[in-house]
Amino acid sequence: MQSGKFNLNEFITETASTPVCDFCRRPGVLWRYPATDFIIPEVRLRVKGDWAACGKCADYIESDKLDDLAFLISGLLAQQDDRAQNLAGSDQDALHHLHYYWMRRLYREFTAHRHGSRISA
Ligand SMILES: [Zn+2]
Repeated sequence: MQSGKFNLNEFITETASTPVCDFCRRPGVLWRYPATDFIIPEVRLRVKGDWAACGKCADYIESDKLDDLAFLISGLLAQQDDRAQNLAGSDQDALHHLHYYWMRRLYREFTAHRHGSRISA
């Protein structure tokens, strides 16, 4: 990961052999959300097709609280970020904010490109 740049591609690239939730990257997919492809040009991210969701993330989607989910997920990402270990508290907050910016952007694009109701996976 390059310093100062958030790698969304790294986040969404499939690494597990079992299906994982496209929002939190954990196994336990229960739902599929139909969506069209989209691009986030600033980070050269191309997102294709439907999104998988676990039960917990689906609850956030269904209650229209994806910004809250983005805040939670970005906090976990900030903790796992190698850069966090060398940062003071206020800079760790800034790193969290950076992750939050991109997760919120990603989820808002999802919201703009989803269509129809969720389907049981
Ligand atoms: Zn999830």
